[in-house]
Amino acid sequence: MSVRVVARIRPLLENELDKDVIVRADSVAEDKATTLVRIPNPKNEAEEFSFAFNSVYDLATSQESLFTSEVAPHVKSLFQGLDVTIFAYGVTGTGKTHTMRGGLRLAERGVIPRLLSNVFRRGRKIAKDTSGDTTVEVALSYYEIYNDKVYDLLEAPDKRTPSGLPLREKDGKTVVVGLSERSCEDLKDFERLYMEANKNRVTAATKLNAHSSRSHAILRVKVTQTTGRAVRESTASCIDLAGSEDNRRTDNGKERLIESAAINKSLFVLSQCIDAISRGDKRIPYRESKMTRILSLGQNNGITIMILNLAPLRSYHLDTLSSLNVSSRAKRI
Ligand code: ADP
Ligand code: MG
Repeated sequence: MSVRVVARIRPLLENELDKDVIVRADSVAEDKATTLVRIPNPKNEAEEFSFAFNSVYDLATSQESLFTSEVAPHVKSLFQGLDVTIFAYGVTGTGKTHTMRGGLRLAERGVIPRLLSNVFRRGRKIAKDTSGDTTVEVALSYYEIYNDKVYDLLEAPDKRTPSGLPLREKDGKTVVVGLSERSCEDLKDFERLYMEANKNRVTAATKLNAHSSRSHAILRVKVTQTTGRAVRESTASCIDLAGSEDNRRTDNGKERLIESAAINKSLFVLSQCIDAISRGDKRIPYRESKMTRILSLGQNNGITIMILNLAPLRSYHLDTLSSLNVSSRAKRI
């Protein structure tokens, strides 16, 4: 099980009034492989905190370059049967959805459409190279976890049961009972499905008077390779996490408090799991939140990549600092 924790600092947006940039990427002189994020101590601006990551991507990093460095190398592993899990973590407005989903323009596409495009391409190549002896099938599930309840995003929101989908243990794995799975032929097919599902996500959130930034959205891409009777199955999971901001500070309605408790708990457990995996611990506390349990995080021999999204602005100072503190491996040094 391998884990990488990287940071990505987004650029300033056109309409942003706060132009006071306080977060910067840096490197350790002696050790070029480690990269740092530096941020002032809010209590004493003369002092600076540094956090170390496996890699730091600054505001000039394109979607393509992030994908090429962090995700593309693992597509091969996925076809070798390893599971790949990619998280985007961070405060609302820092670029999680941009990183995972991205924009419609080709250059602005995020990790998810690029991953699918690579998977379809490799699948076609394998079928061709084996003269059709090996067939590759790609199937999608897409769901969100809101207030610790699981909702299928491939279903229309008016078909949802308010209590969400139940979980069950099967062959030592946690499965979401009744979660739909759709087979996908090509990128066009995928895009249609994905767009529809994202619309479902927004509609459902609006109905609950919530914001989609308060739920975790999890896309599962199942790759099945069949050669005669031999079947090899692996999964890529792409997760756009709920915003990590301190919700207690911004809202205190009852509904919001319940949301924050669920969000904070699952993000805390996630960081504990990432910590345990990176230390090589035997015991990973993945059962302690629904999200990590469904993902069976750390239970199989796979690859986990956590991308911490950061906005460089002063207006995010405290939330940025707390997300840096929580994101594991990003040790303050
Ligand atoms: P989050 O999902 O974390 O709440 P978003 O992905 O919605 O944040 O990003 C907030 C805004 O910043 C969006 O308008 C998005 O297009 C923009 N943005 C984020 N990251 C980048 C980037 N690397 N380059 C250009 N714009 C970005
Ligand atoms: Mg978002």
